[in-house]
Amino acid sequence: MLKEQEINLVTLIEYFGSEDECRNHLRKLRWPNGVRCLRCDSDEVPWLKEQKKHQCKSCRYQFSVTAGTIFHDTHLPLWKWYLAVYLIVEAKKGISANQLKRTIAVSYKTAWYLAHRIRAALKQVDAQHVKGIVEVDETFVGGEVEGKGRGYKGNKTVVVGAMQRGGNICLQVVRGTDRETLHGFIRENTAGNTEAIYTDEWPAYRGIADEDTKHEAVKHRDKEWTRGDVHTNSIENVWSLLKRSIVGSYHQVSAKHLDAYLDELEFRFNNRENPFMFRDALCKLLVAETLPYEKLITDS
Ligand SMILES: [Zn+2]
Repeated sequence: MLKEQEINLVTLIEYFGSEDECRNHLRKLRWPNGVRCLRCDSDEVPWLKEQKKHQCKSCRYQFSVTAGTIFHDTHLPLWKWYLAVYLIVEAKKGISANQLKRTIAVSYKTAWYLAHRIRAALKQVDAQHVKGIVEVDETFVGGEVEGKGRGYKGNKTVVVGAMQRGGNICLQVVRGTDRETLHGFIRENTAGNTEAIYTDEWPAYRGIADEDTKHEAVKHRDKEWTRGDVHTNSIENVWSLLKRSIVGSYHQVSAKHLDAYLDELEFRFNNRENPFMFRDALCKLLVAETLPYEKLITDS
C-alpha cells in the first residue's frame, strides 16, 4: 500500500493511473470504517461490479463511491481529478488553467472550472487563528493604469495577511486599508491571547494592542526594516510568493477570483510540511459543496 509521503508524479501514475484504483482509494478515504448506505446507514452494501455501484441490502438503494460529492458532477475521469489535485497542491507558484488544460488534456473551460472547484474545496472553512508572534501586512494586487504611474492604487485590490512566525498564514481580500477593516481582520483571525502583533507604521494599525497583546511597528518610511525581533519580513515573503504566482502562473487574476487564489495559496503554505497534503486535499474535496459553473461566472 502506498505511503502518502511518497507521492510524486511517478507514484501518482503508478497508484492512481486508473479509474478503479482511484475509486478504491476514494472509497477508503470516504468510509475509513467500511462503506455504509448513504440513505439508511446500513453496512451491508455489496459492490455491483457491472453497475459500478454499491447496493444496500436493506433499502435497495444504489450509490456510486462518488455519489453526492464534487467528483460526481463531471464526466471527468477520476484519475484526471487526481492528477489535477496533485498538480494544484504541489505547484509552489500555482498552475494556470491553460497549463492544466495542456497537462491533463481537457478543454480550457473544463480546466478552469476544475481548478476553481479544487480551490474552493481547499478553502479553510473554520476561521483558523494565528497566535504567538504574528506579522500583519497589507498589499495591493492588480494592474497598473496607463499614465497613472506605479504608485496609483485606484484599480488595485487590497489583500491583508497575518502570519504566525514559523506557522500558518491567513489571507483575505478587503475593501480598504482603513482602521476598521484592518482591526476587524486582525480580531477575526488572530487568537485573543496573541503575544505580539508586528506591522509597519501605517496609522490604521494603531490601537490594536490590548492587555495581553502588544503591538510594535517598524518604520519602513525611515528605512527601518527590523528592530530586534520586530519585522514583517515573513509576511512580505508571502507577498512575493503571491505576486510571483500571479505574474508567473495566472498572468492576471480578476479581483473577483482573487480570494479563491488566496485560499489555494493559504492551503499550500499552511501544509508546506504536511506529508499528507495530497490525501488531505482529497478528503476536503470529498466533503466540499458542489460549486455550479453558473454560480462561478455570475457571482461578484
Ligand atoms: Zn440503505
